Formats: sequence, C-alpha cells, structure tokens
Amino acid sequence: MTVSTEFLRDALKADYGITVSAFHRLGGYDSVNYRVDTDSGQLVAKIYPEEASADEVMAEIAIAKKIALKLPDAVQAAVPTLAGGKFSRLTDGRILGVLEFLEGEFIGDGNADEKESFQIGEFLGRIDESLFGFESAALKARAQSWDLRNSFLVKPKLEFIGNGKKRSLARYFLNQFLERLAGWNFKLRRSYIHGDAHGENILRMNDGEFAIIDYGDACHSFLLSEIAIAATYRMFGSRDPIGAAVPAVAGYSSVVPLTEEECDAFFYFVGARLASSVCHSAEAKTEKPHDEYIARSEAGAWELMERLIETGPVDTENRIRTACGHAPRNLDDTALQFNRRSSTTSTALSLQFSRPIHMKSAAFQYMYDISGNAYLDCYNNIPQVGHCHPVVVEAGQRAMSELNTNTRYLNDTFNRYSERLLARFPRELDRVFFVNSGSAATDLALRLGEAFIGSNSVAAMEFGYHGNTRAAIEVSHYKFAGKGGKGTREDVYALPIPDRFKAGIDESETTQIYLEKARDVLEGKGSLTFIAEPIVGCGGQVPLSSGYLEGIYAMVRGAGGITISDEVQTGFGRLGKHFWGFEMHGVVPDIVVLGKPIANGHPMGAVVTSRRIAEAFETGMEFFSSFGGNPVSCSIAEAVLDVLEAEKLPENAEIVGHYLFGRLEELRQRFASIGDVRGGGLFLGVEMVVGGDPQKPATALVGTIKDGLRDSGILVGSDGPSDNVLKIKPPLCFTKQNADRFVENLDSILEKHEQHD
Ligand code: PMP
Repeated sequence: MTVSTEFLRDALKADYGITVSAFHRLGGYDSVNYRVDTDSGQLVAKIYPEEASADEVMAEIAIAKKIALKLPDAVQAAVPTLAGGKFSRLTDGRILGVLEFLEGEFIGDGNADEKESFQIGEFLGRIDESLFGFESAALKARAQSWDLRNSFLVKPKLEFIGNGKKRSLARYFLNQFLERLAGWNFKLRRSYIHGDAHGENILRMNDGEFAIIDYGDACHSFLLSEIAIAATYRMFGSRDPIGAAVPAVAGYSSVVPLTEEECDAFFYFVGARLASSVCHSAEAKTEKPHDEYIARSEAGAWELMERLIETGPVDTENRIRTACGHAPRNLDDTALQFNRRSSTTSTALSLQFSRPIHMKSAAFQYMYDISGNAYLDCYNNIPQVGHCHPVVVEAGQRAMSELNTNTRYLNDTFNRYSERLLARFPRELDRVFFVNSGSAATDLALRLGEAFIGSNSVAAMEFGYHGNTRAAIEVSHYKFAGKGGKGTREDVYALPIPDRFKAGIDESETTQIYLEKARDVLEGKGSLTFIAEPIVGCGGQVPLSSGYLEGIYAMVRGAGGITISDEVQTGFGRLGKHFWGFEMHGVVPDIVVLGKPIANGHPMGAVVTSRRIAEAFETGMEFFSSFGGNPVSCSIAEAVLDVLEAEKLPENAEIVGHYLFGRLEELRQRFASIGDVRGGGLFLGVEMVVGGDPQKPATALVGTIKDGLRDSGILVGSDGPSDNVLKIKPPLCFTKQNADRFVENLDSILEKHEQHD
C-alpha cells in the first residue's frame, strides 16, 4: 500500500517536527521508503509493512543500536519522535520511523573485485561479531519466510513460478536445503544476523568504509546465512561463481571463522537463498506486476542457479573449505574405490573409461565426481527428465512413506498410472503389466508372444539388445553373437539391420533389399514373435530404414506371428515428435517393452499389449512380480509423466535434438572421419570411419574422442558392432548451450586428430 506524500508530510511535521522540502522514493521490498530533504539535511522516512509489529520494529532499532556500539558509522541511527518515542503511527495503523540518511554508494550486485569482496565479507563478519550477546525475544519469535531456517514456508510459493523448467530448478535447490535442514539444526551455529546483505543494502561511504541499511530481515538464524546471502550477490554475473564468492567468504571467516560444517553447507544455503528469492518475487509479481525493485535480481538469480548446477556442490565444498583454512574434504580416492570394488564383485561388470570415475552426486544434466569435477552428461538416457529431479525424488519419498505393497491390493496410484500410461498408446494397446526392469519386461513380452501364437520362435535384429535374463540374451544378437557369446537356440533368427549408411545406397532401396533378406531368413519358419527396437541402440543408433518395420510387421503377421517394439531406449518422448519409436515408422506393435526412462532410474519396467494377447496369458497361472507396479514405483513413474508434460521435455528433445543434429551435420561436412549422423530427437548416433569409408570403422578415434571429451567434462558413450558410433542420448533437459559445448569440444578433438594424421 502506498501513501500520499502530503499525508506523510503532515505526519512527519506533527510527530517528528520535521519540515520536508522534497520527497524521493527509495527502493524497498515490503516497506515504503522515502528520502526526505529538510532544511537541515536529509533523512529516511520508513513506513513499515502492515504486518510489522511494534516489538519487531523496536527490535530492528535495537539491533542497529547494538551494532553501533562497535561500529558507530556502519548503521542508520533512529530519529526520535517529538514525544521521545522510537516511532509513530500513521492513521491507518502502520508504523512510521525516521532514520538517518547515509551518504554513499550502493556496492551493487555481481562485484568481481576480489579485494572489495574480501572487505565486504570482513565487514559483515564485524557486524555479526558485534551482535554476539544481543538478545531479542521479538526477533527469536519472528517466523519470516526469508529466514533460510524457515525455507519450508517458501515451498508453496513455487507454484507462482509459471515456467515448469525454472520451477523445477528452484524446487531442486529448495529441496536439497530442506533435506539437510534437520541435521543442520543440531550442527550449525545460530546468532542474530542482518539477513539480507545484498548489493542494494550495503553502501560504501565517502570515507571508504562500509555501512549497512534495512534491518527488516534481521533474525535469529544460522550464522552462516549472513555470508551465504552476501556471497550469493557477489556471484551474480560471474562465469565462475564460486571463485567470486571465495574472497567474500574468506573475508568473513577472517573475523568469524566458519566451521567445517558451515563450509560444507554453504552451497545449499546459496541455492536456497536463490530459490527463495525467485519464489518471493514470483509471488510478489502477482500483486505488483510492475515493481522493478522486486524483479531486479530475478534474471541474475536464474542464471546463477544454472551456473551452480553446472558447478555442483562437491567442488564448492572443497573451495570454500580451503578459503576458510580447512582441508578439502573431497579427495580423489578412485584407486581405493577401484580396489574395494574389485574385491567384492566380478569384472564381468564393466566400468566406463579406462580411468574410472568415482561419482558422488548429480543434478539434471550434470554429474559430479568425488574430486569436484562436474560433467555434462550426454549419454545417460535413464534419468530422462534429469538426474535427481526434485519432482521425481519428492514423489518417491512421499510414496515410500505412505505405502509400498505388491499388486494384490486395490490401489488408486496403480490404477491412475496405468490409465495415464495407456492413454499414451494407440487404443488397441489397452493392457499393462509392471515389472522391475527392461529385461524382465522383455522376458514377459516373449512369454506373452508364446502364449498367443503357441510358438517359441523369435526373430530379432542383428546387434539388437533386449536384456540380461536368459530369455532376453537368447534373442539379443549383440550378446549371443558378441564377445563371450555362445550362439543361441535354433528357433531364434537374426535379421540384418537395414542400415542405409553401411549399405551405401538410398533409404528405399535399403528397405527393399533388407526386406528381401528378412524374407529369405523367415521363409517357412511359421509363426513367430518379432522383436526390434525402432532405432537399434547397441547396433550403433541405427534407425531401421523407412518402410522396413511396416514390411516386416506384415510379413510376420501374415505368417500368424506377432510383433514387439522394444521402446526401452526410444520411449517417453526421447525422439521429440514421436512419444514412442514405433510411431516414427507408422506401425502399431502388438506388444511394447518399456524400461529405463519410465521411472527416471527407479527400477521399473512394463509391458503394454492388447486385451486379446493379455487374455491368452490368462491360463490360470498367476503372474506375480513382488515389486512390479507397487505404489512407490507407480508414483515415481507418474511424476516422470508430470515432468515431461510440465517442462515440455519431448518438445525440448525435438528442438534441441534438431539443433544438435544440424551442428553435427556441419561437422560432418568438414571432417571425413564423421561418416554418418543419424537418429531423432535426443537419440543420436555419430558413426566415425576412416576417410569417409563406411566399411572402415574408426574405433580407436572413438576412444580418443570419449577420453578427450571426458577431460573437458563431457560424458558420452559409444557402441555398434565395431564400437565406432558415438551415442548421444542425454537427459531431456539438455539445452542448446549444452549442445554447443558438446559440438565445440568434439570439433577441437577432431581438429587435433587431423593435424596428427
Ligand atoms: N532393451 C533395450 C533396448 C535396452 O537398451 C536394455 C538395457 N540397456 C534392456 C532392454 C534391458 O533393460 P534393463 O537393463 O532395465 O534390464
């Protein structure tokens, strides 16, 4: 609520004896502030927000007074009323205070000057030190949502953030903080703090000393909040935000040394402050849509949150600890972990990279190793909506604390998720079974096929992979014909992949030729179950050539067989335009196998089929999966659908995937070693060959590329019969900037490689 200056002029005259010659509106979040010019100088008139109590205002004045005992020039003194009181009241009941006006310049946000940042930190350390021993029942009782200790009050405000992706980013930081809050209540020091030391609240006075204004957020809270909040605003606009925070933290710690626990908590405090800031401003904008003061730090806050996700907590912990004189906690122990693993498990479980990585944590499209290195994850298609996505994590936590039981009871979550999942399929596919992995789903799909057609014969693509169970291995040419493979049953037939690049002919000719080859293999084999991925992942991200699936489906069905589409890799919006890979081929399978992204990393798989086929399986033998379809899994899977929708991730996969494809194609024009770029959405393959020859796989180069990218903090995988295809299949929150980073790094590795050749 504003106030007319005439009204204020009268109140200042009557209550304070002040004759105002001019008013200048000042910034303020909740309070209304004016600089008032008088004959004898300048003052600040402050109208406190309606909800501010007299006790709180008294406490704010008292806190400034307490600071002034040690640092007399660092705070605004209160001007008494004519009656000798600390404040007066406007006729509407709001409190009017008058404060000294401090002459100086605001330090602003995003100051990159190391020396000044250190001094600011030092200054805040002295402020907080001066408050040791202060007591105020009113401030202790204050339950403000800006106080990070009360961040749970911010949570409902997330709903004011309209953009789904941004809302998730803020939710991530808020949740990370709240999950640790209970522990911090026992470990972190509490004291009275200013609580809002951003760049528009700290002034550098004409004499070079600092002063701090606005005690409206003063509170009894975690001491760490003071410097974490101040440092947040030092980081604004920096490419290396933690680097920008370090001098301020070191300055503070030189006066009030931070404990190890405080150093470790710093990252999460900064994140919570940013989340709190954007939530509050989103809420405030609904009431004051044009208030520039409220929105002034919003763009910077979003950008900084993105940067923090890119950086991660591990490196931050190490750098803040070092700045405060503590040894870094996160030291490389890869060799030790490697030895521990080697003594407990089999080498049949492989490790990515010859120099393995000890991973510590992850967020969205980034992963962080134990030494603090952050990686852009370009090939993990299990965390479909992003690593540790807060909506998914929350859904799992909530469900796990409510009910986790098998499917022998009626359950609303199970029913709702089944309905929502099936609504994503063509109408004829109207039955679902839940299991715990893609492999178990393949296994069940094969059993359904057998039950329906009465034959165990299977046809599958060469180099296809469908899972690790005995039955799945038997139909996975990638395994049974690969390293250590022992072949397969006589009634399993492998069909060569219609790969236009390898064949060196155009797409429609490829389809014709490979349909003929398939006909040769399947001739006289009777009815069988055909299983294939729409884009053969392990085969090197090869999309089956256009028209091929249509032809095969007709062939298989013509002989009384049925078809399975393995959508474990291609499903759930990864391909952009097509929510399922079979849609890309214009076919409708009889059975669909789902896994990996279905629950973002929570172990889950599903089989979707038609009523006809499901009925053939109803023989009297129960189908039971102890964990499949439990309400926890269904809740998590439902959260995945929610996020895909709220954040428009399939659309993002289409846009960013198309962009990345285009940039990779540009590289292909320049480098003969890139033979082919293929795939759809964010499921791409880049086939590396020698001198542009499809028959000469550049396997060693792919190794060099993966290692080189890893050294630049980018994770990518490879596959294909000759392991010469880069597999790009990142979490769907991948951005164009991420794509640029990938392409630029690949470009420079290829440049170097060509020079050496
Ligand atoms: N099908 C395909 C196409 C796969 O890629 C995989 C896993 N890589 C599976 C099935 C098996 O899934 P899971 O590892 O969950 O058993």
